[in-house]
Amino acid sequence: MGNESSTPVAEDVPPVTLYGRTVEAVADYIKKNNVKRVVVMTGAGISTSAGIPDFRSHDTGLYANLARLNLPYAEAVFDISYFRSNPRPFYELAHELYPGKYRPTVTHAFVSLLHKKGMLLKAFTQNIDCLEREAGVPGDKIVEAHGSFATQRCIDCGLEYPEDRMKEAIAIKEVPYCERTRCGGLVKPDIVFFGEALPESFHRNRGLPASADLAIVMGTSLTVQPFASLPSFVREETPRILINMERVGNLGSRPDDVVLLGDCDEGVRKLADALGWREELEELWESKNPNKSMQEKEETKPKDKQAELDEKIEELTRGIDKTLKLSEDHQKQFEKDFKERDDTGKLNVLGEPGPSITKTKKQEQDDTQVNDSGATKDDLSHVYPHKDVKSPEKSSL
Ligand SMILES: [Zn+2]
Repeated sequence: MGNESSTPVAEDVPPVTLYGRTVEAVADYIKKNNVKRVVVMTGAGISTSAGIPDFRSHDTGLYANLARLNLPYAEAVFDISYFRSNPRPFYELAHELYPGKYRPTVTHAFVSLLHKKGMLLKAFTQNIDCLEREAGVPGDKIVEAHGSFATQRCIDCGLEYPEDRMKEAIAIKEVPYCERTRCGGLVKPDIVFFGEALPESFHRNRGLPASADLAIVMGTSLTVQPFASLPSFVREETPRILINMERVGNLGSRPDDVVLLGDCDEGVRKLADALGWREELEELWESKNPNKSMQEKEETKPKDKQAELDEKIEELTRGIDKTLKLSEDHQKQFEKDFKERDDTGKLNVLGEPGPSITKTKKQEQDDTQVNDSGATKDDLSHVYPHKDVKSPEKSSL
C-alpha cells in the first residue's frame, strides 16, 4: 500500500480548518481551538531511535540471532502453535526486547506531554515495547493494537501471571508456567501472535478517531490492517498531521492534512517549537532517562560466550546483507555459500517461511507492501481478519 502515496495530494485545494498546511498552522489551530481530543497513531518508526531493533525486519540480524535456535522459519517465534511446542526462541527474543532496557524517545515524551496537558484522547500504537507507558502515558490512554509486554497470562486457562515473576523469568531466559494447580500451561506476554485475535481494547476504541479534534500519525508505514484504517476514521475537516519518513496511507490527500517528512523526533521537536513547548518537552524527556548506572553496569559486564556468539552472528549477517547488494556474480556466489551453510541448519538467516504458513505469507506479501519505515511483510497482518480498508490487492490475480 505504499502505492497509496500516489493518492492525489490536495496541494491546490485550500485547507478548510487550518490557515495553511504547515506545522505553524497546526500549532495555531491547537492553541486557538482548545484542542483536547488528540488521537495519536504510532508504529515502529517512533522507537527505532530508542535503539529497539525492528525485530520483524530480516535485515536487523535479530532473526539471524534466533536462527541458531533452529527455528523452522524466522516468524515461528511469533507463531502461537510453534510457541506451544517450543517457547524458548520467544523467550530469547523477549529477553532482548523486554521493557526497561530502552529509553523512551522524544517522540514518546511528546505523546506524554499531550497527556500531561489534558489533550490526549488516545494513543494507538502498533509497538509492543511499552515505551509510551515508560514515557508517562497511563495505560488507559494507550491502545496497544498488537498487544504488549505490559501483562501476561497462561495460554491455556488465561490466568494472569505476576509481573515480578515474569521479569525474573525473562531476565534469566526461563520459560514461565501457569501457577494454577494442575494447569501447567505456558505463560506468554499479551503480545498478539500470528493466529491470535487483536486485543479487545482495539475494537472497543477504534471508533475514537472519528471524535478527534486532531490526529497525529507517526513512524508507521500504515501497511497492517486494521490499524492502517484508523486515520481514515478521522473526520474530513479534522486536521491530520503525518510525521514520518515517507508519505503513507492517504495522509496528505485531504485539504487539512499536514505532511512533515523526516525523522519523528525532529518532527515533534518542530511541532513543539511551533507550540512553544520545546523546553517542557526536553525536560519531560530528560526526566525519563533511566538509571544510567544500571546501563553502564550492563555495558561493562564481561562478555559471556552467548554474547560473543550473538555478536559474531550479527557481524556475519551484516556481511551477508552487503553481499546481497553486490553484483550478480557475487550474489550467486553468496547464494551458493548460503545454501551450503543453510544445510547445516545453523544459518537460515533469510528465515524462509515453513510449509505450514507458506501460503498465508505469500498472500500477505501480496497484500502488504514492504517499505523502509519499519512495518514490513513480516508484520502481524496475518492475524487480522478485519480487512475493512481496501488495499490494492490481488484482485487481478
Ligand atoms: Zn493455566
